[in-house]
Amino acid sequence: MTTALSGFSQEEFARHLSGRGYKPVHAARVLRAFYDGNGAMDFGGLKLPMALTEELRGFAPDVAIAARQAAADGTVKVLLKLADGRTVEAVMMANFSPDSAAGCVSSQVGCAMGCDFCATTKTGFERNLSAGEMVEQFLAIRREAALAGRRLQTLVFMGMGEPMLNLDAVLEAVRRIASNGMGNLGWRQVTVSTVGIVPGIDAMTEADLNIHLAVSLHAPDDATRARLLPAGKRFRVDDILAAADRYQAKSGRIVTIQYCLLKGVNDSPEQAHQLAALLKNRRMHVNLLRYNPTGISLSGAAYEGTDDETADAFLNVLRKSGAVAHFRRPRGRDIDAACGQLRAAADKTKQ
Ligand code: SF4
Repeated sequence: MTTALSGFSQEEFARHLSGRGYKPVHAARVLRAFYDGNGAMDFGGLKLPMALTEELRGFAPDVAIAARQAAADGTVKVLLKLADGRTVEAVMMANFSPDSAAGCVSSQVGCAMGCDFCATTKTGFERNLSAGEMVEQFLAIRREAALAGRRLQTLVFMGMGEPMLNLDAVLEAVRRIASNGMGNLGWRQVTVSTVGIVPGIDAMTEADLNIHLAVSLHAPDDATRARLLPAGKRFRVDDILAAADRYQAKSGRIVTIQYCLLKGVNDSPEQAHQLAALLKNRRMHVNLLRYNPTGISLSGAAYEGTDDETADAFLNVLRKSGAVAHFRRPRGRDIDAACGQLRAAADKTKQ
């Protein structure tokens, strides 16, 4: 049983209060105040029964900030220590606009996907996060945004872990974060990202939550993808894009294709043309990412980011073919910005 308010849906908390002899109507007011205060346990203004106010003290979060890194561009990365001592990362990214921010949260502790260019993969998979633990990350980065005078406007599930392998908890977290009476972020402000787990994409289509989907493709052909995303090779590029088509058709939300440019691996003109051909009759948007080096990979490779000239040429091929493509602005370059890096650095200092 959870000991934090982030661990409850509104219905669950109403049932809990009822079981303790309180009016279930207090649940909505308490949770609203909790989320509006970004996790603050201050219910003084609610005029609750004294016994309930006392009891609420027992619901203090069991998650704490273990480390924090701030970059020159305003990006802040936080490492949260969970009740079992494990740690997980979340990031508040400063947007160009001085009063807005974007957030990134993790869905698992570690990751089983083994993507060869990713720092998270090196520690392997430890466990799934609960919906409440994802909500705590959202609250932590919304606090960071507020401290910086910014408003958290969007949230992506793109940190540690593969959200589709913990989809029930991810979608429950989304319900709490996006919905009006709780996190109030808005459904369209939330994106769930996947390396291309087809049944997960279909389950998300079925859930029909009006949120965005991002697919990390990283290669236009199955052979290169198998090298970069070994666990993802279970699903062919064509099947992944077909699932993304189904999501787009049902939700009406344009799917984002993430493509991290790696020097000499997936950045050739041929690969740009291949990707352009795949997207020819699709209205998907391409985000080209610049690689943040994470050291020697599991397979022994030392990946490097694509140089500017090659990256521009890749972008031009896509644009000339009619695709909507952009570079995603790298953020937090002067901190351990790629997912898993702060956690790895914190673990190293403990040794
Ligand atoms: S890139 Fe994402 S899915 Fe792949 S290993 Fe890293 S955290 Fe897991």
